[in-house]
Amino acid sequence: MPTYKTKAIIISYMKFKEADKIIRAYSPHFGRISAIAKGARKTKSKFGARLEPFSYCELVLYKGRNLDIITQIEILESFFNIRESLKKLSYAYVIADLILRSGGESDPDKLFPFFLFSLRELQKIDESFFKQWLTAFQLKYITLSGYKPILDKCSLCGKKIEKLTKIAFSFKHGGLLCSDCSIKEETLTILRNETIEMLRDLSEEDIKNWNKNTYSDLAQRECQKVLEDYIYYYLESRLKTIQFLRGIEQI
Ligand SMILES: [Zn+2]
Repeated sequence: MPTYKTKAIIISYMKFKEADKIIRAYSPHFGRISAIAKGARKTKSKFGARLEPFSYCELVLYKGRNLDIITQIEILESFFNIRESLKKLSYAYVIADLILRSGGESDPDKLFPFFLFSLRELQKIDESFFKQWLTAFQLKYITLSGYKPILDKCSLCGKKIEKLTKIAFSFKHGGLLCSDCSIKEETLTILRNETIEMLRDLSEEDIKNWNKNTYSDLAQRECQKVLEDYIYYYLESRLKTIQFLRGIEQI
């Protein structure tokens, strides 16, 4: 039976039969993988606590008929600090949710380093940066998926956007609208200038600079709202992990 080796980030697991676990993970070359860890729930299992969510590991797998079988696991980075905080864990699951929903055309070789970097950043930041982290990484995910919002010109006619205090954003056209075009559209979201600046900065900058600037709470909230709705427009369903996160933020 052929075996193969891959790096992967564990996202979740479920109990299977009496002593096994089925894990869901994301890997650089294969994208989403599901595999079985036999005996993983026995107290003396060789897997120990190594199948925890967001563990970055190297796996050796047997190619199974239905599910591949994990034979070895080596932890590269445990990200235990993310699992220790319910808030961090909830934020990490939002990005994982997006990654798992990526369709056939998205490239795991691009998404994987992005996912890993997002976890490394989340691991070291404090709570005051959580919202900005989420905005930056959601925006980058949208860009990597080919839906980067048009923020430098009108997304319908291509005209330069006038300097106004409030500017219209259209989900249908994927970006800002000039005042002429916005009159013709029925469904619009109105954004403040500072919010647009925040979206521009975070979509233009290298993701490594996601925390170079800080933004007002109002801009952060407006960015979150518009990105949530934009993702909803393209995925055609709400992210359950976002709804859970909103509940956690109230605590
Ligand atoms: Zn226009």
